[in-house]
Amino acid sequence: MTGIYVHVPFCAQRCTYCDFYFVTTEKSHASYVEAVCTEIRLRSSAYASRDPVGTIYFGGGTPSLLNPDDLGVIIETLNDSFDCSAVQETTLEVNPEDVTPEYLAAVRALGIDRLSIGIQSFFEDDLRFMNRVHSAPAARDVIETVRSNGFDNFSIDLIFGLPDQPPEYWSANLEIASTLDVPHISTYGLTIENGTPLKNQVERGVVVPASEEDMSDQFQFTMAYLRDRGYEHYEISSFALPGHRAVHNHRYWTHNNYLGFGPSAHSFWWSALPASRWANVRNLRRYEALLRQHVAPVDDTERLAIDSLADEYILLRLRTADGLDLEELESRYGVDLLVERVDALAQLEESGFIRPIRNHTVQLTDLGKTVCDSVTAQLLPE
Ligand code: SF4
Repeated sequence: MTGIYVHVPFCAQRCTYCDFYFVTTEKSHASYVEAVCTEIRLRSSAYASRDPVGTIYFGGGTPSLLNPDDLGVIIETLNDSFDCSAVQETTLEVNPEDVTPEYLAAVRALGIDRLSIGIQSFFEDDLRFMNRVHSAPAARDVIETVRSNGFDNFSIDLIFGLPDQPPEYWSANLEIASTLDVPHISTYGLTIENGTPLKNQVERGVVVPASEEDMSDQFQFTMAYLRDRGYEHYEISSFALPGHRAVHNHRYWTHNNYLGFGPSAHSFWWSALPASRWANVRNLRRYEALLRQHVAPVDDTERLAIDSLADEYILLRLRTADGLDLEELESRYGVDLLVERVDALAQLEESGFIRPIRNHTVQLTDLGKTVCDSVTAQLLPE
């Protein structure tokens, strides 16, 4: 099954930490919708017959800035171009300020059955620090609004590690979310990305980032807190009540094929070696101009041989609770870590970063999850 990702590059204003591709000046979305539909049709001639679509994900940017009519046109184009008869999950990212009962009813009628809500914090000073549009009351109200309008399957994003955030705010954020029985929570440590206003504030000394130790403590607290309240910690950033794991994101962690549409969207396709990954141009005007000429709006294509895919598989699987299956790594990617990295595996276990290997599977401990990248680096084959 193929995953489809549609990047909607519009935002009302710039959040200080964000390095996704978006524009804040576009009032009309017509030329974008036309371009994205052209791209979908263009790609379908090469890929539609290969695999039915399993999941659809509208990310951004702020997809909830698209009106339901525009969303409907894109969904109809997907249905006309690909086999969408067995789609398991269709997710729409929304921001709290856009969510009204009327909007929810309209997108449900289009087949959207899961929402991902950009809440980030339930506290006003956090939201102002990040330059979010919504208010703290809106962050709380949106959960009741989506639920009372028929969305039982939804996720919220929360960010920890904000500079100068009172320590009780983070635990309160988790408490509010779990008390409201939010079925899926994605938590992210604030990172200082190049080219963002936040990076500029840090460089000018206006903002002092949280220390690595504080970040690690907050992450460890998060894992313990949410697990105690019945959440499965099924991927480094993802916590779900039973039955609410994200189906779409699972594709990224298992090397399933996905096609990305829209400026800056990424795609991955592996039917024969080498596999391909490509990224669309990160510029709305150029994206639209290329598609007016029926040219694929691709900026960069990477060919991935089996050794690169093996490295990725190790990295992706270690992030998941299901873990890294050493037998699958050997049969699918030709890498036997029990031969190539036996010393590193023993050391990581002795240091408490991985659990004792059971059922030929390597899984991180909570401590290992706080240093996932470094554990991964020690396990990559030479
Ligand atoms: S965090 Fe989301 S809403 Fe904020 S600027 Fe980035 S894409 Fe837009």
